[in-house]
Amino acid sequence: MAKMSPDAANYRLGGDGQGQCGKCSMYTHSGKARNGGCTLVAGPITPYGVCDYVAMMPNPFGPMAQEERIARAQRHITRVQATPHMAAGAQ
Ligand code: SF4
Repeated sequence: MAKMSPDAANYRLGGDGQGQCGKCSMYTHSGKARNGGCTLVAGPITPYGVCDYVAMMPNPFGPMAQEERIARAQRHITRVQATPHMAAGAQ
């Protein structure tokens, strides 16, 4: 089946509550390539794009309370600061 053109799908820069290709169930990506693809829309697809057919995948971890979000971020920062090569790269 032929894929839809980016123009027909209204492919554009995502974010700001519109969703993003990188979180869409139709986004495909392999290796370290900068862009991926899409099972619906033709062409290279950036994970930061979005189109009118976005199908956001549910968060596998469920909703997270703000306190838990902050606690996880603090644990991550503590781990990075305790790892010399990671802390040096973070400067
Ligand atoms: S369907 Fe749209 S939002 Fe989803 S990956 Fe393809 S281009 Fe991106």
